[in-house]
Parts: sequence; structure tokens; C-alpha cells
Amino acid sequence: MSFKVAIIGRPNVGKSTLFNRLAGKKLALVDDTPGVTRDRRIHPAKLYDLSFDVIDTAGFETAAPHTLQGRMREQTEIAIREADLVIFMVDARAGLLPDDKAFADIVRKSGKPVVLAANKSESRASEGGTLEAWEAGLGEPIPISAEHGQGMPDLRDAIVEALGEARCFPDDEEDDLPAESDVLVGEDISEADADHEPAYDETKPLRIAVVGRPNAGKSTLINTLIGEERLLTGPEAGITRDSISVDWDWRGRRIKLFDTAGMRRKAKVQEKLEKLSVADGLRAIKFAEVVVIVFDATIPFEKQDLQIADLIIREGRALVIAFNKWDLIDTPQATLAELREKTERLLPQVRGLRAVPISAETGRGLDKLMEAVVETHRVWNSRVSTGRLNRWLEGILAHHPPPAVAGRRLKVKYITQVKARPPGFVVSCSRPDAMPQSYVRYLSNSLRESFDMPGVPIRIALRASD
Ligand code: GDP
Ligand code: GDP
Repeated sequence: MSFKVAIIGRPNVGKSTLFNRLAGKKLALVDDTPGVTRDRRIHPAKLYDLSFDVIDTAGFETAAPHTLQGRMREQTEIAIREADLVIFMVDARAGLLPDDKAFADIVRKSGKPVVLAANKSESRASEGGTLEAWEAGLGEPIPISAEHGQGMPDLRDAIVEALGEARCFPDDEEDDLPAESDVLVGEDISEADADHEPAYDETKPLRIAVVGRPNAGKSTLINTLIGEERLLTGPEAGITRDSISVDWDWRGRRIKLFDTAGMRRKAKVQEKLEKLSVADGLRAIKFAEVVVIVFDATIPFEKQDLQIADLIIREGRALVIAFNKWDLIDTPQATLAELREKTERLLPQVRGLRAVPISAETGRGLDKLMEAVVETHRVWNSRVSTGRLNRWLEGILAHHPPPAVAGRRLKVKYITQVKARPPGFVVSCSRPDAMPQSYVRYLSNSLRESFDMPGVPIRIALRASD
């Protein structure tokens, strides 16, 4: 017997869109017939290996405008009663509104297993809203995009976790294996956890932008990187002469490069070079997953270099430094040691940042640069399971507990990673406002070391525990 799922939330969060995706419907279920909305409809649905029935709650709100609140409430309660599991949906772009809280109350009181979906999460603008969704008090928000089909593997995992394997796969015969908790002991735990990590998708193009001061060598670098490929492949569909991105392959890895040089050619025509190049840099950073900042190694760490680096880090992008014009450096070893030391000192918020000497003109070091880009991208995408994080936290708290403030020791309860790209964590603690920044920095540095996440921004949000 399969289980029933109700998708609950205020109007417009995207319930029908998810319903259609799960039930495999191409078109939205728009029903013009009056009265039809009174019947709840049940449709078979699939999500990877899960088969279940999804209860269609679409159209509640159109039933009778003057009794909107009452009707929705009643219908919602009926749907929840009938369901084995509730997907409670919020709009991550809008954040948590009073209406969301009202619906969340109904769901919480029902005591049904619930998965909290933060929809419309396809853009970075929704990150704040996803964090805010914790306040619904329904556990960890799963960022999804019902419209674009993103986050579906995480949604699947969350359903299995909320409902239990036995309910999700009722047809599986019981076997003689001991319960999970008996198997997962000692050293094996972290490996077992790693199996549940969502796979990092290497088939998607990795988006790179190259930024830096004028004359650092950006155009030369881009031309050396893509020059030949471009000649060989010619303009592809959708890529015109003025196009701002170029697709190419590096060791079989698909790369999409934001071509600021191309944009500049266009800008020159329009005689707006100075103005456009700043805006271009910003757009390039927003477009990219990994930003390569080109420094002129003969005059490195100018104020402007650091400002750009800081901006990239604040935007949450992965960053790699290229020390260009290395062919002009007389004492390469000593200079590299000195520049790397400076990097750590001037950009302490991204310890372990990769900095690679290159010559854009001769092509030397470009393979190393691309290796650093791919590796940094992997780290930027990394996820750590809640189990591993909290075992780590236990050790941290024993070793270096949070300080006492006004005579009372601050308590840290648990930690979860709520997002990747860059890695973002929520730490649940007794008094977030009293927690010193130095302790948060300590947590972030230890996280970076323990889970091997050098060179990428790490975000930590504090949340008051109940
Ligand atoms: P419901 O009636 O509350 O279940 O919401 P709908 O499914 O009708 O969606 C409301 C609006 O949000 C529609 O315009 C959808 O196209 C849009 N929408 C749904 N899911 C997403 C999403 O993942 N991202 C974005 N940007 N819009 C979405
Ligand atoms: P952009 O303004 O950052 O795009 O810089 P360009 O690519 O136009 O390069 C500025 C100047 O630096 C040009 O004269 C290039 O020939 C020179 N240049 C770029 N890369 C190198 C390099 O690796 N070594 C040397 N010696 N000169 C370089």
C-alpha cells in the first residue's frame, strides 16, 4: 500500500507546480468548472524510487472568495488528516509571512510527519528566505525549485527520512540485517554517511569569470585559454560574436567562461569603456561559480585588487588568484612564498585560498590554474551530513566551549548544513545575540579544517534554540 502526501501552504507558493511535477502532468490543473474544487483529487505520483499518491489541494482559494480563510483552513485540515505525510511549502523568495505561520501551526498541530520545502530557490536571492523558513518550526527547510526541478533528490531523501524506510518501501521484504543503528558503529559511521551525500554533478558546465584590474592580463588569459577551441568549434548555436559566454572543454570537463573581453570590444564601439567595465566585472561575478582574479605579479595587492577579492568573497563565490606575468619575475620561489603569505594575511576570511603563478602570454601554469579552479569548485559545492557535523560539534564543545556571558554559559545545541555553493550552516544556540563573533570565527575555521574546505567562503547563521 502506498502512502499519501498533501502539499500544504498559502496561495502562490508553488503547490500546483510541485503537484504537476510529481504527478507528471504537463499543464497546470486549471479547473474552470464551479464546484469541482470541492472534490479533492488524488493522483499517483513518482519521485525517483518513491511511489505515492498526492492529494491535490489546488483551487481551495478560488472556491468562495468571501469565506476564503475559513474554507482554506477547513480543506487544508481535511487534506492533512487524509495524508500520511505533509509537504509544507513556503516561497523562499518572499520569506516567512504571517500566513505561512498560520498554515504551519495547523500542520504542526496535526502531528503528521512533515517535510518543509523552500520553493523558488533557483536564485541566490532566496537564500535569506530559506534560512528564515527555520522559524516555521518544522525542521530543516529543503531548498527546491518546483518550476525548474531543482532540489528533487533532497526532497526525496527528506521524505524517506520523515516517513521512514519501512513506510516508503512497504513491498520490500524484511531481511535479516540488524537495524541500522546496530550496524553503524565506530569508524564506519562517516563512510556510511558519505553515501547519503548528494552526488556532485560534473556534467553541468562549470561557470568561470575572469576579473582584475585593467592591464593585469585578463584578455590575454582568456584568449590563451579559449583561443584555439573557439577557432576550432566556431560560434555555436546561441553564441554570437557579441555573446558574453563561451563554452569549451578542459580535460573533458565542460566550462562556460564569461567573456569580459568580448564585452569590452562591444563597449569600445559604444565608447563607454570605463563605465561599462565596472558593471561588467560585477555581472561577471554574479554569473560565475568560480571567479579567477588576475593579479599583475609585478605589482600585486594593489588596493583595487583587494577590493575586488573582497567583493567576490562577499558575493559567496569561489575564488582563485592567478599571479600573472610570472615570466617577468626574477626570483620565482621567494616571490611565490611572499605572495602566498600575503594572501593569507590580507584575505584571512578564505584561508587556504589557491593562488597560482601563470604566464597568460606563454600559457605556462594554465593547467595548474584550471586544476585549482576545478578543485575549488568541488569544495564550494561540498556538503557535510548532519550526523558528521554534530559528532564534530561534540568534540569542539568539549575542547573549546563557548564563553560565559554575564555569568551564564552560552549553549550550542546543534549544527546543520543548510546549503552549499558556498557552504552555509545554521548553528542552534541559546542566545544568538550574545554569541561573540570570535567564537563564530572559531567555529568557521574549525569547520574549514575538519571538513577540508580551504579557500571558499563559509557562512554561519545563528538561530535561537527553543
Ligand atoms: P499555488 O497555487 O500556491 O500552489 O502556486 P502555483 O503552483 O500556482 O505557483 C504560483 C506561481 O509561482 C506561479 O506563477 C508559478 O509559475 C510560480 N512558481 C512555482 N514554482 C516556482 C519556482 O520554483 N520558481 C519560481 N521562480 N516560480 C515558481
Ligand atoms: P587586461 O586589461 O586585464 O585585459 O590585460 P591585457 O590582457 O590586455 O594585457 C595587458 C598587457 O599585459 C598587454 O600588453 C599584454 O601583452 C601584457 N601581458 C598579459 N599577460 C602577460 C604575461 O603573462 N606576461 C607578460 N610579460 N605580459 C603579459
